[in-house]
Amino acid sequence: MTLSPDRLDRFARHIVLPEVGGAGQVALTEAHVVLVGCGGIGSPALQYLAGAGVGRLTLIDDDVVDASNLQRQTIFTPADIGRPKAEAAAEWVAKFDPQIEARAVIMRLGGDNAARVLGGGATVVVDGCDNFATRLVVSDTCTALGVPLTSAALGRFQGQVANFAGHLPGQACYRCWVGDAFDAEDCDTCAADGVLGAMVGMVGAFAAMSAIRVILEGKAALGDPQWGQLQLFDGLAPSMRTIRVPKDPECRGCNPA
Ligand SMILES: [Zn+2]
Repeated sequence: MTLSPDRLDRFARHIVLPEVGGAGQVALTEAHVVLVGCGGIGSPALQYLAGAGVGRLTLIDDDVVDASNLQRQTIFTPADIGRPKAEAAAEWVAKFDPQIEARAVIMRLGGDNAARVLGGGATVVVDGCDNFATRLVVSDTCTALGVPLTSAALGRFQGQVANFAGHLPGQACYRCWVGDAFDAEDCDTCAADGVLGAMVGMVGAFAAMSAIRVILEGKAALGDPQWGQLQLFDGLAPSMRTIRVPKDPECRGCNPA
């Protein structure tokens, strides 16, 4: 694949980076990212993934835009209130870069549909959804399908982002990190806890960066996914630290039954 002159112009600042280069830009163009959740984390992640020229985006969300979302869900405007987020997000992509193929999936992921929705040849799944139950379904499904997962989450001023490849030998999955306790709970809602817009922006942008590392693996120097290295952000300090998530030999997500 070669990039057309207008695409070379558009991505000139990537291509000139030794860590990305022309080969990296082609890899981004050929990538398919599935984004779970088009909300606080999903909005900025989507902006930077689309900005990076990811060629195919599948945007999953079952929610509609609410006035209280506009404080942090940066792709939406008052005209979008009441509309499905996935649909408004796909429309944002179409305006931003008509050459990107964006598909809206208005659906809540669960055990009954996740394999079908996530199994469409994704290069990486980016999970920025708002509840543990969905995150665990997404993680288990990615592990079963052999698809890498960029997981991003936020609670007040604490953010966490990691790339997982539970399908690879010796690599942890998201379930290895959080365990089984959260399968049935929606225990982390922004409505109850509050959230600062710029904080989700930081976590969402970092999730995009992490997904780009996965896409560029074997294609460009930036392509080191750093599997199982969890970045913890403290937005108040502010500070960032890295912890290594060990593979749990008892984990039912990433060990053969
Ligand atoms: Zn695991």
